[in-house]
Amino acid sequence: MYRAKSDGRGSLRFFEPKIDADMRARRNLEADLRLALERSQFELAYQPQVDAAGSFVCGAEALLRWRHPQRGIVSPLDFIELAEDTRLIVPIGRWVLEQACRDAMAWPSTIRVAVNLSAVQFRHGSLLRDVLGALQLSGLPARRLELEITESVNLADAQQALSTLREVRSLGVQVALDDFGTGYSSVSYLRDFPFDRIKIDRSFVRDVDTSSTTQAIIRAVVDLSHSLGMKTTVEGIETSQQLQIVQQLGCSEVQGYLVGRPCAAAEIIDIIRKLSLTAADEP
Ligand code: C2E
Ligand code: MG
Ligand code: MG
Repeated sequence: MYRAKSDGRGSLRFFEPKIDADMRARRNLEADLRLALERSQFELAYQPQVDAAGSFVCGAEALLRWRHPQRGIVSPLDFIELAEDTRLIVPIGRWVLEQACRDAMAWPSTIRVAVNLSAVQFRHGSLLRDVLGALQLSGLPARRLELEITESVNLADAQQALSTLREVRSLGVQVALDDFGTGYSSVSYLRDFPFDRIKIDRSFVRDVDTSSTTQAIIRAVVDLSHSLGMKTTVEGIETSQQLQIVQQLGCSEVQGYLVGRPCAAAEIIDIIRKLSLTAADEP
C-alpha cells in the first residue's frame, strides 16, 4: 500500500516478497538506530578542508559514522534518511554538534569545524539551543563552527528556518550551502540568505579536466559567490589535474580524497600538522 501511495494517486502495485523483505530490513535498522545513541555507536570522521593552493588546513568537516555491532561501519548515506523519517536525527544531530565542538577544541585555534545539518533539525528540533549548548559545553568560539545546510532546508517557504539561521549566524557561527548546483532553486538560495560559503558539489568536479562547459559553470559560480561576498569550496577533488584547474578557476578552498580522506578524530590532528609542515617546507 505504501509503495502504491508513494507512486502517486490511482497507482497499483502487486505484492512482491522483496517489498516485505525491504520493510523488515528497514524495521530492524530502525530498532537498532533507536539504541545506537545510548550505546555510543556513533563516531565522527573528519575530512580536511584546505586552501586552494593546498598549503594549509582551514577546517575539517565532521562526517557521521555508525559502528554497528553486526554490520560494521555504516555510511550516513544508509541511515540519515531513516533517522530523518523517524526524527531520530534531532538527538543524533545534537550529539554530532557537541562532539564536533569538543573535538575541535584540541585543534589549533585557527581551524574551524564544519557540521552537517538536516532539514528536520530546523523543522522539529531546537537548533539554536543545541548550537548554543554545544558551544558553551565545549568552550569553542562561535567563529570556529561552520554549519552546512543543503537546499532541503527550504528557506523560501520556511520563515522559521530562515530566522533560526539568522539567529545562529548572529552568534558568529558561519553558514555554508552544501552540494551547490544539484537542486533546482540554488541560485535563489543565494538571494534568500547571506551564506558565508558555497560548497560546489563534487558532481561538477568529475569531468572538470575535460569539459569546458563544466569549467565555465564553476567559474560562473565562483565569480557569483565572490561578488556576493561568499567564499567557495570545491568538493570531491581526487586528482592533481582537477586541483590545478579549480585553482585556476579561483575557488577559495578545496576538499577531497586528493588532499585528505575522512579519518578518525585522533588522526586529524596529525594531518593538520603534517599539511602545515609541508607548506612551511615549500620554498
Ligand atoms: P557531504 O556533506 O556532501 O559530505 C561529503 C561526502 O563526500 C562525504 O561522504 C565524503 O566522504 C565524500 N567525499 C569527500 N571527498 C570525496 C572525494 O574526493 N571523492 C568522493 N567520491 N567522495 C568524497 P559521507 O561521509 O559518506 O557522507 C555523505 C553525506 O551524508 C554527506 O555529504 C552529508 O550530506 C551526510 N552526512 C554526513 N554526516 C552527517 C551528519 O552528521 N548529519 C547530517 N544531517 N548529515 C550528514
Ligand atoms: Mg557537507
Ligand atoms: Mg557536499
